[in-house]
Amino acid sequence: MKTLQPTGLELKPGQLEIRWSDGRTTQHSMAELRRQCPCATCRVERDKLETPTKGLASLRVIQTSTPAVSEAQILEVVPIGRYALSFRWNDGHATGIYAYETFR
Ligand SMILES: [Zn+2]
Repeated sequence: MKTLQPTGLELKPGQLEIRWSDGRTTQHSMAELRRQCPCATCRVERDKLETPTKGLASLRVIQTSTPAVSEAQILEVVPIGRYALSFRWNDGHATGIYAYETFR
């Protein structure tokens, strides 16, 4: 398998645009990326939120969202080796490592 590499990154308002070595361009919502942060801390937080509501979807009237997450902004993109990207967020978080496959 040919390894895809980002050839360009662009930070737009609320969006991250990535150009890839195969010529494709992908766009990603920053809020969505922040929610999907793959680091251990965020996975634990998500489990806490998701576990008690399992099977009770019909009772969940109000969709809770953390303001810090919905307004997530990437301040800096840090390449990790040749397989992943890490983001520094406006809430100070920076431990999530997003493998390239996450974006494709
Ligand atoms: Zn995280």
